[in-house]
Amino acid sequence: MKFNTKLIHGGINEDQETGAVSIPIYRSSTFHQHQLGAQPKWEYARTGNPTRNALEALIADIENGKAGFAFSSGSAAIHAVFSLFSSGDHIIIGNDVYGGTFRLVNKVLKRFGLEFTVVDTRDLVTVENAIQDNTKAIYFETPTNPLLKITDIEAVAKIAKKHDLLTIVDNTFATPYNQNPLTLGVDIVVHSATKYLGGHSDVVAGLAVTNDTEIAEELAFLQNSIGSVLGPDDSWLLMRGIKTLGVRMRVHHENATAVYNYLTNNGKVSKVYYPGNPDSTGYEIAKKQMNGFGAMISFELQPGLDAKKFVESLKLIDLAESLGGIESLIEVPAVMTHAAIPREIRLQNGITDELIRLSVGLEDETDLLDDLKQAFNQI
Ligand SMILES: *Cc1c(COP(=O)(O)O)cnc(C)c1O
Repeated sequence: MKFNTKLIHGGINEDQETGAVSIPIYRSSTFHQHQLGAQPKWEYARTGNPTRNALEALIADIENGKAGFAFSSGSAAIHAVFSLFSSGDHIIIGNDVYGGTFRLVNKVLKRFGLEFTVVDTRDLVTVENAIQDNTKAIYFETPTNPLLKITDIEAVAKIAKKHDLLTIVDNTFATPYNQNPLTLGVDIVVHSATKYLGGHSDVVAGLAVTNDTEIAEELAFLQNSIGSVLGPDDSWLLMRGIKTLGVRMRVHHENATAVYNYLTNNGKVSKVYYPGNPDSTGYEIAKKQMNGFGAMISFELQPGLDAKKFVESLKLIDLAESLGGIESLIEVPAVMTHAAIPREIRLQNGITDELIRLSVGLEDETDLLDDLKQAFNQI
């Protein structure tokens, strides 16, 4: 089955009881057990819920995995995956990760004795040199948030395999439409499904997928033990969103290409970060491992131009956190999504105070460009 067909017919695509083509929302928290101790398929909804289960089967299918797990947020999914490790274990983590992941690692997981080394995962020598006796995994995003840096997934996974480490990739920015890390040798993929997978800015959710049966068993245990599961209503909403991922990503990409071309030819813009930028260091790798470049673009204004005034002057494009929705969203990472990262570390990683991140939505391209033009005229 081709990817776009899988989005619609993958997983469990009809209710076995009724034939309903839209999987019903099963709100029941518990299930009648007709025989004592018979270990029925459904017993308690934290452990397993048919609506959530259908979503989990769908994400496993579209990420080419064996098992999927749905959580109450992307952060909850990432937390559950890090819970595979124990006090004293060491993890290598990319230096440009989502601000909330940075906070989870530094303010929560370190308190539980997990050790981390932060590296630029684009640099394979540095990655391999960071491996210690107690290293258990390499965790990174590609493209990264917000600088859209590209790491060679296959190459890092190869290093990890050689040293018997797990590779974990946050695939939120690319989505399974553009990139399938499991196919490239990765063990676990995580998603903030709040973004492109949900796609309509109306659900907070997280997903984890693996193609390893043993890891799947451990994740099922952790999901049930920690309990940060996605509810049935949100599971249904997310499945509904995923079904249109293909058509949405095609238009996201078309609009992003138009916006990218406009920004690169704009005298008021000093730098544009986009995986589809042929002059960027990651371009060849992006072309190799992605089916498209996505619709996240970051840029900097020429020195002295007022980024605050610019984003506040936009009329159609919303100044808001989050990304991947049908509506275009713009933000300033230093003040918003990445404010949890100390300023020196942010600057070291290239996230300047003036950096602007744009999630290009599905509006008409002309209206988007007109809105950008009028805001540039204000500064
Ligand atoms: C938003 C985001 C997260 C966190 O997900 P939530 O659903 O907000 O908890 C993790 N990784 C990336 C890349 C994100 O953009």
